[in-house]
Amino acid sequence: GDAHPPVDGTPDLELNCPAASKAARVVLVTGGARGIGEAVARKFAANGDTVIVADRDGEEAASVAKSLGPAHVALTVDVSSDADVVALFEAIRQRFGGLDVLVNNAAISDTFRPALEQTTADLERVLDINLTGAFLCAREAVRSMRAGGMIVNTGSINTFLPFVPRHAYGASKAGIDILTRCMAAELGPSGIRIATVAPGYIRTPGVAALEQSGRVDTASIRRRIPMGDLGRPDDIADAVLFLASEEASYINGSILYVDGGWTSFG
Ligand code: NDP
Repeated sequence: GDAHPPVDGTPDLELNCPAASKAARVVLVTGGARGIGEAVARKFAANGDTVIVADRDGEEAASVAKSLGPAHVALTVDVSSDADVVALFEAIRQRFGGLDVLVNNAAISDTFRPALEQTTADLERVLDINLTGAFLCAREAVRSMRAGGMIVNTGSINTFLPFVPRHAYGASKAGIDILTRCMAAELGPSGIRIATVAPGYIRTPGVAALEQSGRVDTASIRRRIPMGDLGRPDDIADAVLFLASEEASYINGSILYVDGGWTSFG
């Protein structure tokens, strides 16, 4: 529901009927087939919302959606494709009439090459998915939302802290922060909120793959985290659920670091 409804004399049915259960929101999670996105999808489903698991891996998305229960659906999308994203939202409007919450979670890591060895194509691939993809989904979501709608973008500690050599990834995540703040200023009057959740180091399949390839050293990372350990996908999912809740209804344009204290101490 809309925590700050326009004053138009409409009676507040929730107050009049405290026993009535809340209407299920329609929630889209991009990159929802695994990792943090999957945890976010599970959290919203457990909260009673209707979840659309969207991923470029349609089979994995379908198996996650199936495991959530019959109310939930999977759709295949490459978020970097304008046509794919427009078609995704058209399908959502046809099936559900609109969208209440978008969780822009899909992203890729970059090539870990020194800047002088990084090609334009490498850079564009990361920016196309992580930044343009988030923008395309946010733009189409706004076209499908009413007042009370919410967009949660996924930043990173790299929004704030540079990691060598993750130029493209860091630039894409810094872009997410300013994109969020610009859109918050623009969307404020519409009653649609937007915020960024910025994960620290979270134990996901993506991170496991980086560890296995030897490209990240988890032991040295752990020493830099005041709480001494990596986070869990559920730590991020809980923060996303909060940002999308009525309890967060005055949070707009903000970035919420969920990182065990890492960004506070560098
Ligand atoms: P994963 O790599 O484990 O999962 C990402 C999912 O997004 C995959 O299912 C992936 O599909 C999908 N995806 C990738 N590209 C696209 C695309 N173009 N269109 C649709 N879906 C796509 O990531 P994490 O769970 O680790 O991370 C989730 C989010 O959190 C990302 O935004 C990431 O940058 C951010 N983050 C994660 C941190 C961590 O420590 N894990 C730290 C900071 C931020 P496919 O299998 O095909 O690649």
